Amino acid sequence: MAYLSINPHTGEQVFSADNLTQSEVYEQLKLSKERFSVWKESSFKQRRDLISSVAALLEENVESYAELITKEMGKLKSEAMAEVLKSASGCRYYADNAESFLGDQLVDSNSDRVLITYQPLGSVLAVMPWNFPFWQVLRCASAAIMAGNCVLLKHASNVGLCAQAIEQLFLDAGAENGVFINLLISSSQVADVISDSAICSVALTGSEAAGRSVAAAAGKAIKRSVLELGGSDPFIVLADADLEMAVTNAVKSRFMNAGQSCIAAKRFLIEDSVADIFIQLFKEKVEELVVGDPLDGMTTLAPMARKDLCVELDEQVSQALESGAELVVGCEYSAESGCFYPASILDRVSPGMRVYTEEVFGPVASVIRVKDEEEAVAVANSSRFGLGGSVWTKDIKKGENIARALECGSAFVNSMVKSDPKTPFGGVKESGYGRELSAYGIKEFVNIKTLSIKNEISTS
Ligand code: NAP
Repeated sequence: MAYLSINPHTGEQVFSADNLTQSEVYEQLKLSKERFSVWKESSFKQRRDLISSVAALLEENVESYAELITKEMGKLKSEAMAEVLKSASGCRYYADNAESFLGDQLVDSNSDRVLITYQPLGSVLAVMPWNFPFWQVLRCASAAIMAGNCVLLKHASNVGLCAQAIEQLFLDAGAENGVFINLLISSSQVADVISDSAICSVALTGSEAAGRSVAAAAGKAIKRSVLELGGSDPFIVLADADLEMAVTNAVKSRFMNAGQSCIAAKRFLIEDSVADIFIQLFKEKVEELVVGDPLDGMTTLAPMARKDLCVELDEQVSQALESGAELVVGCEYSAESGCFYPASILDRVSPGMRVYTEEVFGPVASVIRVKDEEEAVAVANSSRFGLGGSVWTKDIKKGENIARALECGSAFVNSMVKSDPKTPFGGVKESGYGRELSAYGIKEFVNIKTLSIKNEISTS
C-alpha cells in the first residue's frame, strides 16, 4: 500500500506518496552503508551534539510538531505535545548517558588487559507504528545513532508526514545525509530490505503479525532483531484498593490516545466484592469524557487513527456482546461516526470472547470479575501477551508480590504502566523480545566485543 494519511477528525487527505521503487530503495541502502563507514568513527561528542540538537529542535517547535501529529493520526494536541517533549527527553537521556553506557569495561588487568567494548553494528532498520509517531521512532533512533549506527525508518503508511518531518528534523539538527533516512516503502518490501547487506539489525514496534514476518526475515538473514509488540495489560483492583485513585488511573490508562497504546490497561481484573462499586465509579468518569476536535483544548477523547480500526474494534465488541458480555456504557458504533468510537465499558468478559484473548486497541475497557488475588494473577498470566501490568491495593507488600508474579516486562503498584527513558521497556511472550530505553536498550544496537591485550611479550 502506498502512503496515505487522512485527518481522522476532518476526513481530509493530508499526505500521499508512492512507495519507493526497488532501485530507489537500493540507492538509499547504499547511501546508508557509505555514511556508516564514516559515522562509526564519530566521537561521542559529535553524536551528543547531533542528538542534543534534535532534542532542542523538538522543544523549540513542540506546537508545530504536535499539530502535525494531531492532523495526521488524530491524538489530542495536549497528548501530542507531551509526546514531542517526551521524545526530546529520550534524546537528551541518550545524548547525556551513551558514553558512560558504552565506555570500555576493564575485566582483568593482571597479565593481560581484558576489556569489554561496545562497537556500532551498521545500519539499523526501524519499522515503526503510527500510535506514537514521534516517540517510537526517536526512542529507537536516538539510541542507535548515539551508539554510532545509521538508521533507516520504515514508518507506518498512515503517518508519512511525520516520517518526513523527522527526517528533516535530523537534517536541521546537523545530521549528514544518510545518518537518518526516511524510507517510504510498503510492509511487503521490508523483508527484502532486511536481507540487504547494508542492514545489520531491525527494530520493529508493531503488531504480532508484523512481528512474525519481521522476525522470520531477520532469522532467515541471521540478523539481530528487537520486537516491541502488542499487549493486553491487566489492571488488577483488589478489595482494599483506593477505588477513587484506581478509577482515575483506569480512565487515563485506558482512554488516553483513544485507547491506542500498547501499554494501555486493557483487562480490568476486579475483585468481586468491589466490582459493582468500581464499575459504577468507572462509568461515571467515562461518561464525563468529551469527544470532539482533537485540536480543541476542551476535548478529552480523541478520534481513532483510521476508520478501519473502528470497524475492527466494533467487531470485537459485538462478538463479546453476542457471547454474554454486559454493556455498561458506549459500545454503539455506526459508519457515520467515522473515526469516533464511543468510550465503552464491557462487564463480565470471559474466555471465548475476542476482547478476552486479543489485544483491544481502542477506547473499550473489558471488566473481568475475579474472586481473589490468586485468580487475578492466574487470569492476568493466562494471556499470550506479557507487556505490562498494574495492581491496585493499600497493602504495598501484597502489591509487590503480585507485581513480581505478573509475567510481563513492566509491573506497577498503585500507578499506571508507563515508559521512562531510564528504565528498560519491552515484553515477554508474544509481546516481543529485546529491550528499548535505558542502558539495556542501547546495547541492542552494538557489537559487545571482548578485547584481550597481552601486556608483556615473553621473548624466551
Ligand atoms: P502494525 O500494523 O504492525 O504496523 C507497524 C509497522 O509495521 C508499520 O510500519 C507497518 O507498515 C509495518 N508492518 C505491518 N505488517 C508488516 C509485515 N508483515 N512485515 C513488515 N512490516 C510490517 O501495527 P500498528 O497498527 O501500526 O501499531 C499498533 C500495534 O503496535 C499494536 O499492536 C500495539 O500494541 C503495538 N505497539 C507496541 C509498542 C511496544 O513498545 N511494545 C508500542 C506501540 C505500539 P504499514 O503501515 O505499511 O503496514
